[in-house]
Amino acid sequence: MSDMLYLDHNATTPVLPEAQEAMVKAVSECWGNPSSSHAAGRAARAVVDKARRAILEMIDAERGAQLTFTSGATEAINHVISSAPAGRVITTALEHVAVHEAAARRSDLTVELVEVEENGHVDALRLLDLVDAGDSPVLVCCMAANNETGVVQPIGELVRPLRAREVPLLVDASQMAGRLNLNFEPPDYLVLTAHKLGGPKGVGALVTRGPADLPPFIVGGGQESGMRAGTEPVPAIAGFGAAAQVVLETRHEEASRLWSLREAMAKHLLHRLPGSRVLGLGAPRLPNTLSFMLPEGQTSSAVKAALDADGICVSAGSSCHEGHAAPSAVLTAMGISAEEASRVLRISMGRVNTAEDIGHFVERLSVLAGGLSA
Ligand code: PLP
Repeated sequence: MSDMLYLDHNATTPVLPEAQEAMVKAVSECWGNPSSSHAAGRAARAVVDKARRAILEMIDAERGAQLTFTSGATEAINHVISSAPAGRVITTALEHVAVHEAAARRSDLTVELVEVEENGHVDALRLLDLVDAGDSPVLVCCMAANNETGVVQPIGELVRPLRAREVPLLVDASQMAGRLNLNFEPPDYLVLTAHKLGGPKGVGALVTRGPADLPPFIVGGGQESGMRAGTEPVPAIAGFGAAAQVVLETRHEEASRLWSLREAMAKHLLHRLPGSRVLGLGAPRLPNTLSFMLPEGQTSSAVKAALDADGICVSAGSSCHEGHAAPSAVLTAMGISAEEASRVLRISMGRVNTAEDIGHFVERLSVLAGGLSA
């Protein structure tokens, strides 16, 4: 895969060398069961504890915060939503499908969606108005940053007002945690996943401000303080922790590097492809993400396939929805028509991408999209 140009980091990221090294070490040297009270068990427990501390440090968690390792963000989201008491849930159409599907399984939850602005931003006051417009909600779910557009939501403006109303807040920070500091006070439930920040797939976390007030999601041997039974996947957790450490040390400088690359890429593409558009303008956005609408006459699926044949990986929307013909719910919520949505490409960069890569991508996309128009 050395010739591949990977520009789909919001789908998943390559595993960082530091994470790979930590995983190999955990597999070869720390293979004990972390619950065993002997030397082999203690060595594995030390790996899990170290990773937990690194991840809590990465998110600047408050003292007393509890981190439960899960199989990923999907599981953490399911845990919180399946545990909510019956009642109103206020959320957005922008959330990951796990939020909507987990809520849909509960016939005793009434889901209400707050209106989204045209640039994909959620107005905090509008959300709070919706909260106040009926019985007190049992849960509010609002993601920190969107996987398709990169738009960052005003979580900082929600935490205190919701706490004052005693309404619990679930924040999916899967896309934000590896890319920007979490610039908000800790919500009741914070969701993370390792594979969006240079860690392995199949491990994530649910972080609560204190001891979790939820029933266990999986019962059995009582691991993870009784919150999530099952022997911990020590190598995956080690990789998550090592990636978190790298993120903490480099996130700031990576963010400004990627921001400059993204701005230059957008400028050149808008110039080379008249009639194209950047989505999410005017809203704070993840520095690595460009949601780009191709000119009329193009489809992102055809352009994406042509880029793929050229060794360039991008996405034509949320990766979880690929293969589905329906327009993205996120773009629809932003007032984008089905035809316009069919022209949206998502380009999401990461640590491996250089200015040279982006120059090559701009050139290839300009030629391919120019060449494909009638
Ligand atoms: N939340 C967001 C915003 C995501 O982008 C994703 C991944 O696509 C998920 C949740 C699901 O994460 P996981 O793959 O860890 O279940």
